[in-house]
Amino acid sequence: MTERKEELAANLARVKERIASACAAAGRDREEVTLLVVTKTYPASDVRILHELGVRQVAENRDQDAAPKAAECSDLSLSWHFVGQLQTNKVRSVVSYADVVQSVDRVKLVTALSSAAGRAGREIGCLIQVALDAESGERGARGGVAPDGIGELADAVAGAPGLRLDGLMTVAPLSGPFAGRQRAAFDRLMEFSSRLRGNHPAANMVSAGMSADLEDAIAAGATHVRVGTAVLGVRAGLG
Ligand SMILES: *Cc1c(COP(=O)(O)O)cnc(C)c1O
Repeated sequence: MTERKEELAANLARVKERIASACAAAGRDREEVTLLVVTKTYPASDVRILHELGVRQVAENRDQDAAPKAAECSDLSLSWHFVGQLQTNKVRSVVSYADVVQSVDRVKLVTALSSAAGRAGREIGCLIQVALDAESGERGARGGVAPDGIGELADAVAGAPGLRLDGLMTVAPLSGPFAGRQRAAFDRLMEFSSRLRGNHPAANMVSAGMSADLEDAIAAGATHVRVGTAVLGVRAGLG
């Protein structure tokens, strides 16, 4: 094994142990939680190593980086999740490689995703990104719709050709009433998820938790955790 492969294997094992312990502590089956490895800022060679180590789901937040990386890895059986703020002029590119867009936060984006999915002949899974700290009618600083906008967006996705409503996603807020209270934030997201499933029973994905707070997310009921740093290392610069 190369040094990098050994490093990633050890990190991955540690993260999987954390997930298993958090599931055990919460009385949940380990199979209820899926690990997405966030590969942003890291090269395609790392994605390839992760694939060799059994990773099948990766996430990226910038189309400029993700598109060439996905192209370099197109021979691998990988599912790509897009988790960053998404401009409508990038939608066509994102739809060409992403299986799931987790950052759906406005109707205009739903419309753009639907027409791009139609042109590409693909079905794209969509999560509504919830900004727990955004006021009514606003979006969060890091993307996401205010909680009272979830219903309208969910109905828009559910009614859009080429799109599949999969559930909800959040990033724990850095400010507002949930700042520093990850568990409370993720509990709140679960309440919105229950409400959503009342109208859309198949939309049962809950994407929450990152390197620092995956235990809180699993305790609250997350089905998907998005882990970057704890697997790949601390990122240099932006990202
Ligand atoms: C970068 C990122 C992650 C991973 O964060 P880490 O702290 O590196 O684990 C998760 N979700 C989103 C939306 C991200 O942008």
